[in-house]
Amino acid sequence: MQPFDLGGRVAIVTGGNGGIGLGMARGLAEAGASVVIVGRDKEKCASAAAALREAGGKVAGVAADITHEQSCRSVVGEAVQAFGGIDILVNNAGINIRKRPEDYALEEWNTVLATNLSSAFVLAQAVYPEMARRGGGKIINIGSMMSLFGAPYAAPYAASKGGIVQLTRALATAWAKDNIQVNAVLPGWIDTDLTRNARREVSGLHERVLARTPAGRWGVPEDLAGIAVFLASRAADFITGAAIPVDGGYAAQG
Ligand code: NDP
Repeated sequence: MQPFDLGGRVAIVTGGNGGIGLGMARGLAEAGASVVIVGRDKEKCASAAAALREAGGKVAGVAADITHEQSCRSVVGEAVQAFGGIDILVNNAGINIRKRPEDYALEEWNTVLATNLSSAFVLAQAVYPEMARRGGGKIINIGSMMSLFGAPYAAPYAASKGGIVQLTRALATAWAKDNIQVNAVLPGWIDTDLTRNARREVSGLHERVLARTPAGRWGVPEDLAGIAVFLASRAADFITGAAIPVDGGYAAQG
């Protein structure tokens, strides 16, 4: 058996209908996993799933808003029904609302935290019995450079992404006994809808990212496929509680 082979495994990727999530979903499907991609936009889910199926993947799209606890639990139920179980959960869906800290309404703070952090906890809770039943599993939580650094226009986002790393460590310690490995991936600056908005809203961002990234370029969603496959595979069975930057060297640059 190949160490990175995901044949027979079932994965859920939240936010898998676009951006980084789609890049990771494609990687997992190419490595042999059956993949359920989740997003609010039904059309986007259907067309992303169809594109991955055309490329030979076993992929289903499920439209759901992961800020609702019941929707998270239904997604897990649908994945089990479609493919017979869950082995891999990628908590990737995320949003940002950019403002100075003094300008946020509490509702905006709550929306960012619910999307980026609470959903990861609820989904992890929901997949836990399934993974335990199958003898193990892999949870991959998507953090950010803002798991490590601050920024003046990202208080709830940075809080959620710092929280993702600590949630990762807590789950990793709790569920190691069940052979469930829980790790975080911290992407650098990746060209997606999310950062296209940021580039529009924050003047000079594009140039600052290029200047600070030793690789000399923005990342693309496909740059995250390798780490997703690796962390989902048996090659990573002794890695848990880690937070791994995939950032072209951004975090290493002083
Ligand atoms: P995109 O905006 O391109 O994609 C976000 C995805 O999340 C979409 O698929 C969206 O689908 C889904 N989503 C958002 N809210 C919900 C919700 N309530 N319920 C279900 N799905 C939801 O962003 P990226 O691909 O750039 O970001 C993906 C992750 O990577 C995020 O967690 C982000 O914080 C993180 N990240 C991104 C970086 C970057 O440079 N791009 C850097 C560091 C971290 P839909 O609209 O259909 O709901």
